[in-house]
Amino acid sequence: MTKEIATPSRTREIMDQHHLSFKKSLGQNFMLDGNILNKMVDATEVTPEDGVIEIGAGIGALTEKLAKRAKKVIAFEIDRRFLPVLADTLSAYENIDIRHQDILKADLQELCETTFNDTRHIVVAGNLPYYVTTPILMGFLEQKLPIKTLTVMIQKEVSERLAAVPGTKAYGSLSIAAQYYAEAEEIMSVPATVFMPRPNVDSMIIRFRIRNQPAVDVEDERLFFELIRAAFAQRRKTLTNNLRQWLGKKADLQEVFQLAGLDGTRRAETLALEEFAALADVLSKKRL
Ligand code: SAM
Repeated sequence: MTKEIATPSRTREIMDQHHLSFKKSLGQNFMLDGNILNKMVDATEVTPEDGVIEIGAGIGALTEKLAKRAKKVIAFEIDRRFLPVLADTLSAYENIDIRHQDILKADLQELCETTFNDTRHIVVAGNLPYYVTTPILMGFLEQKLPIKTLTVMIQKEVSERLAAVPGTKAYGSLSIAAQYYAEAEEIMSVPATVFMPRPNVDSMIIRFRIRNQPAVDVEDERLFFELIRAAFAQRRKTLTNNLRQWLGKKADLQEVFQLAGLDGTRRAETLALEEFAALADVLSKKRL
């Protein structure tokens, strides 16, 4: 049996063998700890009946671990240089399909409908490139794809924002957007020392269990998200001040807050999803 890819010596050896260097611009920090990757695969809850979408295969450290536990793995990698590497490192696995494509440009809806029609659940996993973490994550969530879990390794600070609860410093529009679509749970923190090259920040594995229905029912989803953006426009200001700025002088905010059962002197960071939903529905009914 070949040695696992996620070790410092094997990673160095593979990169040297193929005369490759790491591209910082593509967020290439490769994982060197197989135990951490195993825990990440556990967190996906993948079974031998399931399909996996992997984001950013690199030289295949996570890909091989996913392939051992899933029915099939579709792994995206934007950097052409890794295609011959992956063909080599993953040659023992018949259930891996490497796609040389930018994940942000992939037709994920189509992928879920066609490629995975013979699998039970679809799970998503990836050690994400730092420079596009949020667009990748929000892209998966907003498209309401038929996926069960999404488990990613990301910058710790972003993970804290995604999983934050009301009343904390990290809670904001990103927390609400993510938690509207999924239940977020931080699984384990990962030190910078287990990556090659070593990034400047620590990481976190975070799992999203995708909800069948969004966390709250809202009449107008677009208005709900516009309201959240406006409410957090200036964090230190009250809801009244931020909404006044957004809706203009004419809006009867006192009535709006009364109908929503909210105190307008509160700050957005104290509001739960349900409270934003109530506020959005009042605005929607009043066509504000
Ligand atoms: N999975 C490997 C690991 O755990 O060691 C590599 C992780 S590395 C942090 C991120 C990988 O994503 C890199 O291989 C990089 O080339 C790739 N990548 C960066 N941007 C991408 C994009 N937009 N679409 C697909 N892959 C991308």
